[in-house]
Amino acid sequence: DSSLKQTLVDAIRNIPDYPKPGVMFRDITTLLGNARAFRRAVDELVHPYAGGKVDQVAGIEARGFIIGGAMAHQLSSGFVPIRKKGKLPRDTVRIAYSLEYGLDEMEMHRDAIAPGDKVILVDDLIATGGTAEAAVKLLQQMGADIVAACFIIDLPELGGRKKLEALGVNVRTLVA
Ligand code: 5GP
Repeated sequence: DSSLKQTLVDAIRNIPDYPKPGVMFRDITTLLGNARAFRRAVDELVHPYAGGKVDQVAGIEARGFIIGGAMAHQLSSGFVPIRKKGKLPRDTVRIAYSLEYGLDEMEMHRDAIAPGDKVILVDDLIATGGTAEAAVKLLQQMGADIVAACFIIDLPELGGRKKLEALGVNVRTLVA
């Protein structure tokens, strides 16, 4: 509803020219530090899945860990970290994805997801969707049944939602 949206919008801080000139960075640390806004955001994200069986919440490093950890607790599900390469200690599946300049890689533990697991993917924000698309492909490679991909913030003009929907993924966002 509109009061929830307003609460969240008011709690997000916009930082001009960060990390470089011309970019307006959406800073969610102020939302995380606002007890009511943080609770309402997490409640809204998990609401459709309460009572249903979600096996795992998969969070994208690093802000997806914070939101995803809270969601997993609320849903009584597990949590799976999707990390930048080189941070996980055991056998991993890895995928390369393109950033604005150059390539990066993300990975998850090979034994973190069982085929058929119902998984919710989460990050704080979707822009071009390149990061989330790579995470979706990793999860699908492991046989996950992706229930939804959830984000607090959507930057719709950058096309991320459409990119995920083209892969057949249900996308949920709270504010644009
Ligand atoms: P994409 O791959 O969709 O272009 O970019 C999304 C990724 O970059 C997410 O992991 C997100 O955390 C990060 N990101 C890009 N722009 C912003 C921003 O303005 N604010 C925040 N908090 N994260 C951003």
